[in-house]
Amino acid sequence: MEPVKLGLVGIGKIARDQHFPAIAGNDRLNLVATASRHGRLDGVEGYHDIAEMVGAAALDAVSLCTPPDGRYEQALVAIEAGVHVMLEKPPAVTLSHVEALVAAARKAGVSLFATWHSREAAGVAPARAWLADRRIDAVRIDWKEDIRRWHPGQEWILGPGGFGVFDPGINALSIATEILPRELFVESASMDVPEGRASPLAASILMRCGSAEVRAEFDFLQTGPQTWSIEVDTDAGTLRLTQGGSVIQLPGEAEQTAPDEEYARLYDRFADLVAERAIDVDLRPLRLVADAFLIADRRVTEAFAF
Ligand code: NAP
Repeated sequence: MEPVKLGLVGIGKIARDQHFPAIAGNDRLNLVATASRHGRLDGVEGYHDIAEMVGAAALDAVSLCTPPDGRYEQALVAIEAGVHVMLEKPPAVTLSHVEALVAAARKAGVSLFATWHSREAAGVAPARAWLADRRIDAVRIDWKEDIRRWHPGQEWILGPGGFGVFDPGINALSIATEILPRELFVESASMDVPEGRASPLAASILMRCGSAEVRAEFDFLQTGPQTWSIEVDTDAGTLRLTQGGSVIQLPGEAEQTAPDEEYARLYDRFADLVAERAIDVDLRPLRLVADAFLIADRRVTEAFAF
């Protein structure tokens, strides 16, 4: 098979840190074009936006690395041109937008892949397997990082459709929905939104998984140690996932980890989906965030500047 001719949209932090190396390491993919208003990659044809790129370059597929707001419109341009689409997380700003993209992809006969990179972290598949036949008693999610360290100057993240602390927090929910053996339901939520901004800097959600309480704490102003952990109490002891799911500790055992292959796995999966013209979209993490936004008790907190 010829390599998939791929275009990438939105040259920012994640494109440079993860997407370019993962694409370069996959011989089933060939990066032939980019679309970014300010960014260029040496040796690759660069366009201003996706419409210009799809119109000019003979592409099989695109990978969207832009912020979530605007991604629906970008994806639609590609799908309607018969081009396969891979979406960074969160796949779009609303559930309706993602559902419309699925319908459009089906109609056009192209692949659509809504990625959840944290599900590819080394501890996630073993956690899912270990929890499959356990009784779940309680779950604690702590996703606490410093926005100033990891997202300097990313004003969009606190704007409408930027998700705020749920930009990282949705990764925890993507893992929880993957590893827990029953569906999650949001029962209550609270959010702190800084004055003059649209999206929260902190949030708490109480969810239920069967009879177990699932408590999630999200903080975007965490100084000192950064925490991305999920603890699951079961009838056989407590399972711990730390460092974003890359480290797993089963009861009475030592911690286990493996090299980071999250984006390599995503692009491998995308190449498979393109070959099959298949769709892989799981809306559950986005639905939990949407449910939390629907019922949250909101507090306006002091203004925040990067
Ligand atoms: P970023 O550094 O701000 O880069 C996004 C790029 O998209 C920008 O460089 C910009 O390039 C382009 N863009 C198009 N429309 C834009 C708009 N309205 N506002 C701002 N930029 C716009 O963001 P990022 O950290 O790479 O995140 C992008 C996506 O990847 C997000 O959905 C995020 O959740 C996800 N992600 C990020 C990380 C991470 O560690 N940062 C990790 C995993 C996933 P031009 O100006 O050149 O067009």
